[in-house]
Amino acid sequence: MIYLDYSATTPVSYDVLESYLRATKDFIGNPNSLHSLGVKTKTLMNSANKQIAEIFNILESEITFTSGATESNNMALIGTCLANVKRGNHIIVSKLEHPSIYKICEYLETIGFEISYVANDQEGLIDFDDLKNKIRPNTLLVSICAVNSELGIRQPLKMIRQIIKKENPSTLFHSDMTQAVGKIPVSCHDVDMASMSAHKIFGPKGIGLFYKNSRVKITPLIYGSGKSNLLRPGTPPVPLIVAFSKALRLALVDIDKRENFVRRLNEKILGELCKMEGILINQTKYSIPQILNISLQNIRPETFLHAMEEYEIYLGTNTACASGNLSSSIMAVYNDKKRATSSIRISLSHVTTTDEINQFLSAFKAVYNRLNSLTEG
Ligand code: PMP
Repeated sequence: MIYLDYSATTPVSYDVLESYLRATKDFIGNPNSLHSLGVKTKTLMNSANKQIAEIFNILESEITFTSGATESNNMALIGTCLANVKRGNHIIVSKLEHPSIYKICEYLETIGFEISYVANDQEGLIDFDDLKNKIRPNTLLVSICAVNSELGIRQPLKMIRQIIKKENPSTLFHSDMTQAVGKIPVSCHDVDMASMSAHKIFGPKGIGLFYKNSRVKITPLIYGSGKSNLLRPGTPPVPLIVAFSKALRLALVDIDKRENFVRRLNEKILGELCKMEGILINQTKYSIPQILNISLQNIRPETFLHAMEEYEIYLGTNTACASGNLSSSIMAVYNDKKRATSSIRISLSHVTTTDEINQFLSAFKAVYNRLNSLTEG
């Protein structure tokens, strides 16, 4: 099997799984319980939390564990809007967000909030002047992802923060960092709030992180008992938290070396695909190398994907996340409907091998030529 859909999700690494199993087997208590088993589990949870806080140089109390980035995004956007209704009703997002952000915006519109979409240039970079012009006295929040999930376009968060704070110091800045963590260096100090997810960094599914600077006040979305965290009451999933912490620590090892290795794989694929007619490369100078997006002019992406599956090669389309099969990210950058409905995402990781890429390229050429000749016939 050759897995090339790492941006959709990653397998759990062996070391992470071991941490999960150990925490599950040896720490059976509820961290909210007062007896020694509870205290033992709570101590383990606190040390995992502390390790994560140290990684990002943030306070332990600024971390909330969630079920994943979707929930973190909900907390950030809805939580901010509900906490600040008296101050305004306007929020700004980019046109390169994950569909979860757009779904939340749709909901917020139904309860009276107004959403503006900031423009980007042809390389996908946020248009700073447009952002400046869109920020008003009643703008509560700007949400811009650190790395876009489809084209891998990265945004300069520090610069964006400066623009926002200069225009309106009380406007909060949230970034969905799900596709950035473990791939490029990120800093929580560039934002007021951030979303992350473990299953994109070889951690388990079902655990994410919401970072909120301690100065920021948001309204909780979930109510219940348990003192561990006011935003996310209930029994914390300690084995998942421990596994997430382990996955994060492993994700940051040799991050530059890994990025360079993946860049070489990306360039190898690109070098071959560029020579083939009818393939458009959806990549800009801001795309990270872990994501390579292409559009096939004459073949339906689903047909191609399933044909590649016959070789046990797994790729992504935008249909896994997007509504319908129109890629809003490709529309935002290329403004081309055909291109936006025919895209395929090849996503790589540091565990991808050169041999896998060689096999992928031969299968790709065989499938592409066969399907292309069918459409020509
Ligand atoms: N944001 C981004 C940028 C993503 O890529 C994803 C996962 N595709 C999500 C949010 C949703 O994450 P989760 O599956 O952890 O809810």
